[in-house]
Amino acid sequence: MKLAIDFHSHSGYAGGVGQIELTTVSKTMKLKGIDVFGTGDCIFPTRTEELKHELTEVKEGLFALPKDSSKFLLQTEIIFSTKLMHKRNKTIAHHIILFPNFESIYKMQLLMNNWGMKNTIGRPFITSDTQKELEDQLFEINNIHPLIEIIPAHIMTPDGIFGSKNDLDELSEFYGNFLSKIKAIETGLSADPQMLEKIPDLAELTFISNSDCHSAALNRIGREFTILDVDQVDYKSIINAIRKNHVIMTAEFNPAEGKYYLTGHRADRKGHSHEIIFADEIPTGLICPICNKRMNLGVRERCAQLQNNSIIPIPHKFMHLIPLIEVIATSQNLKSIASKRVKKVFDVIMNIFPSEIALWQSDSIQVMLDKRIDQKTINQILAVQKGDFKFQPPGYDGTYGNLIVGDK
Ligand SMILES: [Zn+2]
Ligand SMILES: [Zn+2]
Repeated sequence: MKLAIDFHSHSGYAGGVGQIELTTVSKTMKLKGIDVFGTGDCIFPTRTEELKHELTEVKEGLFALPKDSSKFLLQTEIIFSTKLMHKRNKTIAHHIILFPNFESIYKMQLLMNNWGMKNTIGRPFITSDTQKELEDQLFEINNIHPLIEIIPAHIMTPDGIFGSKNDLDELSEFYGNFLSKIKAIETGLSADPQMLEKIPDLAELTFISNSDCHSAALNRIGREFTILDVDQVDYKSIINAIRKNHVIMTAEFNPAEGKYYLTGHRADRKGHSHEIIFADEIPTGLICPICNKRMNLGVRERCAQLQNNSIIPIPHKFMHLIPLIEVIATSQNLKSIASKRVKKVFDVIMNIFPSEIALWQSDSIQVMLDKRIDQKTINQILAVQKGDFKFQPPGYDGTYGNLIVGDK
């Protein structure tokens, strides 16, 4: 059975945004076609109590609002920080953790308390002084419940396990003996399966994709997602599907849109009057020729460093996607997705297709939308469905890539 899941999100407690109502999230999930959504920030005590108060368990390990079909699973992101002997700087890596029930969340909170870790923000830190201590922490979390899943998040970004800041060659440098428990990785917005499947340490793992959203907006929830093949709609079947790699497909950002894709410096950096982007030859020592400061290595080059071209990859089925609301806005030459005209077109389409995912998977878009919406918008939707779009310039130094749809 197919299940569309977005496993990674944040609440207002992770900073940056105001409070996000679960009712709003549920509404967007239905429009997008997301069946199960990770709650975000589930171990932050205020959030835990809110979730417990608002949600009811409807299937084992899956929760819902009263009289509502959208399902939630309990999820948080945790930042693990440790000192590896052979590295000068601390190694920092973001992780998604999935929990089967509230009881295991309370045990997790107790563990953090015993370790003296602050649990005062949506996305907390767990620190350690040595790799061994980190490994013990990971095993202790894992021992709370056999269905807890720990998944390295957005692995190629600067804060991801394989990011350029950490500069690790192998996952075992960080996980040690815990590596056998790592069954999946999150590709993140700046990388797609094709870039990752030739990296030796990742070849055997399940690739999942999530929005990592901090908002319930139509271009945030489900901007990346995973379709799993599950035996049943419950938490245990979802975890089994992750562990056994029963992924039907993932929907991904085009990596060139991601904020860390190429190496460069933005125009608004100190000492800069214009931006600089390196598509081919990266300067030695990563020193920016304009401001003489060090640049972060782009995800594309970082992947190339780790890839082994003799690996024959297991093909991962995925598609590059742009949120429909953004495609509509671009096709109407409007910058804002909040425009009434854009929203109106979106509503017309949602009256024809049951959800956005259903639209992307349909082979009769032209017939279904003909004469009911502008042909230019239909053409751009078809172009995106075929993957006929690019980002020029691509993303770099914290800036998203600039979208160009079709062969213009
Ligand atoms: Zn993160
Ligand atoms: Zn610079």
